[in-house]
Amino acid sequence: MNSTEWKEKLSSIKDGFSNSAIKSNAGNIDALETEYLGRKGLLMLLLRDLKDFSLEEKKILGPLGNTLKAEITSKLAELKNKFGAGSASSLKNDFDLTLPAFPYSKGSLHPITQTINKMTEVFLKLGFSVAEGPFLENEYYNFEALNIPEDHSSRDMHDTFYSAIKDSKNKDWLLRTHTSPVQIRTMEKQEPPLRIISPGRVFRRDAIDASHSFVFYQIEGFYVDKNVSMADLKWTLETFIKELFGENVKLRFRPSYFPFVEPGAEVDMSCVFCNDKKGKCPVCKGTGWIEVLGAGTIHPKVLKSCGYDSDKWSGFAFGAGVERFAMLLFGIKDMRVLYENDLRILKQL
Ligand SMILES: [Zn+2]
Repeated sequence: MNSTEWKEKLSSIKDGFSNSAIKSNAGNIDALETEYLGRKGLLMLLLRDLKDFSLEEKKILGPLGNTLKAEITSKLAELKNKFGAGSASSLKNDFDLTLPAFPYSKGSLHPITQTINKMTEVFLKLGFSVAEGPFLENEYYNFEALNIPEDHSSRDMHDTFYSAIKDSKNKDWLLRTHTSPVQIRTMEKQEPPLRIISPGRVFRRDAIDASHSFVFYQIEGFYVDKNVSMADLKWTLETFIKELFGENVKLRFRPSYFPFVEPGAEVDMSCVFCNDKKGKCPVCKGTGWIEVLGAGTIHPKVLKSCGYDSDKWSGFAFGAGVERFAMLLFGIKDMRVLYENDLRILKQL
C-alpha cells in the first residue's frame, strides 16, 4: 500500500463511521466502537499499517490517522452520553415503559351494542327488518301522530330537550323521547304488512341515577297486518324472551296505559336470578317478576294518522329498554357503569 492508497482508505473509514454514527442507537453504540477502535477495528488496523511506511511518510500520515481517531473517540463519547452511559442502561432507556405491551389487546363491542345485536338477531329470525330514524324529531312524530295531543298529561313523563327553533309548521323540534316516531315514519312510507324493529338512542330530561339517564337506548318493534291480535303479540314476545333467557322463563302481562296502544300492557318476565328464593333477590326485590317491556295492539288513531284503514289493518307494538336487558344479560346492578367507559369493568363484560 502506498501513501495515496492509505489516505483513501482513511477517508473511506471516516465516511463509513459518519454514516454509521448517524444511524446509531443505544443498542449498537458498543458494536460501533469495536468496529472502528477495537483491537481489530478498521481504524486501528490502518494505523498499524503505518509501520511499513518511511519516517517521512509517517510524519505526514500519522497525524491524519490520529486526528480521525480523536474525532471518532469524541463522537462515540457524545453518542454514549446521548443514549446513556453503558449498553445495559442504554437499552433500558430505549424502551418506553408507558407504551402498551405485546400482545396488543383487541377491542370489543360495548355491552349496549352487544345487547342490541342479541335482541335484533332474535327479531331478524322472526322475519322483522331494522329501521332507523332521526334523533331530532318534531312534536308531530314524537307525540301527536302517536295519539299524545299537546295537552296530554303523558307528555310530562316524556319531558325532554327542546330546540329554540320551530319547524315550518310551527311545531317544536326536540330530541326524541322514544323510538316510536320510527313507527310513524315507516308506516307513512310503506304499505302493510310490516314487521319492523328500530333500536336507537332516546333522550329525556332525567337526572342520572342507578336506573335513569338523560340518554338511553330503546328497541321499538311493531307488526301490522290483517287480524293481528294480542295473541300474536304474546307469542312474539314469549319467543323473544325465551331466546334470550332460556325456555323456563315465564311472561306476565299486566294491563297498563300507553296512548299509542289499545289495549296496553306492561310485560314482566319471571326473575332468572332468584328462582325460588323469593324475598332475598335484589333484582326483582323479592317479587319474582322483572318488568321488561311495554306493549299493546296499535291504537286505531295511530294507524289512521299514517293513512292506514284501521278496519282493514291491525297491529301490535312494543318497546324495550336496552339498558334493562344489558343489566339482566350481564348481571349489572348499576346502569351508570354502561356509560362510564371504565375499561376495568368493560373488559369483564
Ligand atoms: Zn329475583
